[in-house]
Amino acid sequence: AAAGARAAVPPPPPPPPGPRVVRTDEGAVDGLTRCERCGSTEISLNVATGRLRCSYCRYEWQGPSALATSDLNSPIGELSGVVIGSGSADIIPSTDEVLTFKCSACGAEVVIDTNESTQARCHWCRNTLSMNQQVPNGAVPDMVLPFRVPKDDAVARIAEFVKKRTFFAHPVFKREFNPENVMGVYLPYMVVDVNARASLAGQGEHQTRSYTVKSGDSRRRVYDADVYDVVRDFTVHIDDLTVESSRARLDKDASRNTNNIINSILPFDVENAVRYDSNYLSGFHSERRDSNVADLTPVATVQAQDVARHAANQTLEFYDRGVRWDHERVDVVGQRWVSAYLPVWLYSYQQRKSNGRSFLHYVAVNARTGETMGSVPVNQPKLLAVAGVVQVVGTILFALIMLTGG
Ligand SMILES: [Zn+2]
Ligand SMILES: [Zn+2]
Repeated sequence: AAAGARAAVPPPPPPPPGPRVVRTDEGAVDGLTRCERCGSTEISLNVATGRLRCSYCRYEWQGPSALATSDLNSPIGELSGVVIGSGSADIIPSTDEVLTFKCSACGAEVVIDTNESTQARCHWCRNTLSMNQQVPNGAVPDMVLPFRVPKDDAVARIAEFVKKRTFFAHPVFKREFNPENVMGVYLPYMVVDVNARASLAGQGEHQTRSYTVKSGDSRRRVYDADVYDVVRDFTVHIDDLTVESSRARLDKDASRNTNNIINSILPFDVENAVRYDSNYLSGFHSERRDSNVADLTPVATVQAQDVARHAANQTLEFYDRGVRWDHERVDVVGQRWVSAYLPVWLYSYQQRKSNGRSFLHYVAVNARTGETMGSVPVNQPKLLAVAGVVQVVGTILFALIMLTGG
C-alpha cells in the first residue's frame, strides 16, 4: 500500500435514537369507573359478548379498540426505528408497587397492591377502584384481549383433551382430575410488528442434463449443471408477532413444557384487543410483565431472519440442485412493540414423582379460539407394555417376510 493514501476516518455513527413512545393511556382515569346508565361501580366482563357489563342494570359497552390509533396502526412498511406503546416502557424496579388512591365516593384512602391486582374495593363505601393509568412496573399494559370462551366451554374442552389421553394417563392424575379447578389468567405478551430488509447472495445450480458414461466395464451417471450467482433483496413485514414477556415463561429450562403448550395455542386475534381497562380483569388472574423490549428484541430478530430465509426459499425452484448462501443479512429497519394481556384458561396439575421431585403439567385453552393443548402425566409401565407389544409384532412380521422371501 502506498504511503499517504490514508482513507479519511469516517465520523462515528450517531447514537441510535431512543424509542418513540405512543401514549396509550391518554385520558385514562384511576379510581371509580361508573356505569354511564346507573352510576354503579360493579362492572365486569361478560364473556359471552366480550363486553363490559354493569352488574346492576345490565347495561353493556365496549372500550375503544387499542390499535385504532394511527401511530399503532400505520403500515408496517413505513415503520422506522423503534416505536413502543407507553405501556411497554422499561420497567423501573424502584417503583412503589403498592399505590394509594383516594376514593372519590367517600374520600377514604384505598391501597392497591399492583403485584396482585389493579383493582381494590373501598372498605368504607364498598365501591370498586381501578388503576388504569400506567405505572412503570409493567402492571398496566397497552391493551387487553377480553376472554370470549366461557369457563364451562373451557372445562368441557379440557375434559375432552384429557379423555382422549386417559389410556396412557397416570392413574393418580385420572383420579385427581377435576376440571372445575380451571383458572382464567391474562398472560403478558408483547405484540410486535417488524419491518426488515433482507439481502441474501450465493450460488445456485440448475441441472441441464444427465447421462450415463461407459468406461471399460463400469458405468457412471454424469450430471451437467449451470452455476448461477443468486441474489435476493427484499423487505420482510411481520405483523403481530406475539412474544411472551414474563421471564418465567421465557426461561426455557424451568418451564419448557409450559412454554411449548402456550405457544401451541397461538395465534390470538390481537387486532380485536381493546384499550386497557382494569374492569376486564375483574374475576380473573393476571401475570405481570417483567421483561423489557431490549430483553425480547433477540426473539423478534431471529423470527425476522427465519421469515426472510423462508421467503427466499420460495423463489428458488429453478435451482433444482440447491442454493448455497455465502452472504445473509437481515436488517431490522423498523419495529413496533405493544404490550398486551391475552386470555388463557389453565388447568394445572402437580405430579409428584417417585424421586421426590414434582413436575407441573398444564392443559391450556386459548380463551378466544378454544384451541386446546396440554400435557398429561404418563403412566410409565403402561407405555412400556405397549412399546413391548409393538416390538413383538414387529419381530413376527419380520420373520414372516424372511420366510416368504426365502
Ligand atoms: Zn348500570
Ligand atoms: Zn369509598
